[in-house]
Amino acid sequence: MSEHTHVPKWAAICPHMGAAERSLLHVLFVLTETEPVCVIAPAQLRKVLYSGPVDIGEAPKRISSSGLMRLLRNLAALGQLTRPEGTALTFSSREATQERSVPMHVHRDLRHECETDPTSLSYTLARGWPSHTRPGAPSPPGESAIAP
Ligand SMILES: [Zn+2]
Repeated sequence: MSEHTHVPKWAAICPHMGAAERSLLHVLFVLTETEPVCVIAPAQLRKVLYSGPVDIGEAPKRISSSGLMRLLRNLAALGQLTRPEGTALTFSSREATQERSVPMHVHRDLRHECETDPTSLSYTLARGWPSHTRPGAPSPPGESAIAP
């Protein structure tokens, strides 16, 4: 597996993403295995993103369009999604945005200030997160699709 196709370690442990953001980012990494830029409409992404698990044999619960837009905005705010030329990617709330294909650069390298040590997952597992919080640092998103 080349360096380009893997899902980076930081994405598994970054505390600034909820489980839903992680799923979306994983899908986007798969879509960009050969090219860092993909062109996709939010409506297409909704086909493979769920609001929670269902039992085997049940129909999947698709994520809502507003929920997906929130996830895309969160990943763009972290800098992991940008326009192909590197400028900020924004998503309008208008319904038409859902069907419109958007070129997005999916960044595998860490593009936001993150306490994770992406080179050493085992280090973090052994030592835990740093107990300090940066002054003025936003608290990580509290919501998650996974119940505690
Ligand atoms: Zn992070």
